[in-house]
Amino acid sequence: MNQTFVSHLECSMTGQRYEAGRVRGLSDAGRPLLVRYDLEALAASVGKDAIAASDAPGFWRYAPFLPVTEPGNRTTLGEVVTPLIALEGSAPGLGARPGRILVKDEGRLPTGSFKARGLCLAVSMAKELGLGHLAIPTNGNAGAALAAYARRAGLRATVFCPADTPEIGVREIRQQGADVWRVDGLIDDCGRIVGAGREKAGWFDVSTLKEPYRIEGKKTMGLELAEQLGWTLPDVIFYPTGGGTGLIGMWKAFRELRDIGWIDGPPPRMVAVQAEGCAPIVRAWETGEEHAPRWEDARTVAAGIRVPAAIGDFLIVRAIRESGGFAMAVSDEAIAVARDHVARMDGLLLCPESAAAAAACRRALDRGLVGPDDRVVLYNCATGLKYPMAPVERRLDKDENIDFDRFA
Ligand SMILES: *Cc1c(COP(=O)(O)O)cnc(C)c1O
Repeated sequence: MNQTFVSHLECSMTGQRYEAGRVRGLSDAGRPLLVRYDLEALAASVGKDAIAASDAPGFWRYAPFLPVTEPGNRTTLGEVVTPLIALEGSAPGLGARPGRILVKDEGRLPTGSFKARGLCLAVSMAKELGLGHLAIPTNGNAGAALAAYARRAGLRATVFCPADTPEIGVREIRQQGADVWRVDGLIDDCGRIVGAGREKAGWFDVSTLKEPYRIEGKKTMGLELAEQLGWTLPDVIFYPTGGGTGLIGMWKAFRELRDIGWIDGPPPRMVAVQAEGCAPIVRAWETGEEHAPRWEDARTVAAGIRVPAAIGDFLIVRAIRESGGFAMAVSDEAIAVARDHVARMDGLLLCPESAAAAAACRRALDRGLVGPDDRVVLYNCATGLKYPMAPVERRLDKDENIDFDRFA
């Protein structure tokens, strides 16, 4: 398909319209830009059957809902439709019946995280618009995805991460050909460097929500989920929220699907999960504010959600409110307990961010915020292999007489 249904870009705050097909970062009001489509035309020419028949890799099956015009600009590293895995053995410990909680395992995507969705789209659009050098602040996964897709597309990538970013992520970024720097600060400090270098270093800023296309990639999480569930949606979605691209993107997907009549019924309640050591959205939600002031002294083991300030804060809060959802923070201890529990009882290794979602789910079930019959989806946002795990100290001496009773 050598065509898109994009009609224009729109400021998420003021609604001001911008012509598509040009390089753009934020709107004139300094807010995120959203891609808008001629959904009537889309619905008139694309049906569910056409999507079902697509043989494009992974989320590229939703190309009619995406902004890339020239198929040759679709950068691919073998994207896959990520599986939905029902929790069985671990479900009762979370307060649910076996099979009631589904985990969408995004760790199967290229570079091992769902950041692949957003950065694949950002890079494909950068290529389409003729950009040559991209820069990003990251807690690891976004930088890795940018590095991989940028090199794949023949673009340069420069990456800034907090000095204590999980080690494997920093190394992965360099291994995949990006110029990576450790910064003595948090992700928003890295973001300031990227912003300040735009003119002098000549790179394009692909920070979360500071260009319009990563959100379109993350939107495919919602499209894919709907198709996997036979064009229905779950009752509740627990989403570990940092910059919020995924939550905002899924919410956008559900609206677009409703607007073209592919789904009906109430949308899922969106639950933003954060860590107690960095919970600006939860605080804003609880105090009823639209904007979330910066969280000072942010700390949590869940690196991907250690985001002290989010430029799309008001969009996250709106999506939670419109969906009838809520926001919840959990402790690092609860994260570790949930990660161990799901790994031991179901053989599924969650990343700490998603273990936070599992911990929040447990608490929400406990408090009756979510009912026992509700169909719940959590996203495993990255492969658990990217994060530190407890060391194994036990050793066996092959030359000694082994007492096999101890293994019985
Ligand atoms: C980036 C990231 C998040 C947060 O995603 P947003 O859509 O930016 O809120 C959560 N978990 C992991 C593993 C991540 O890499």
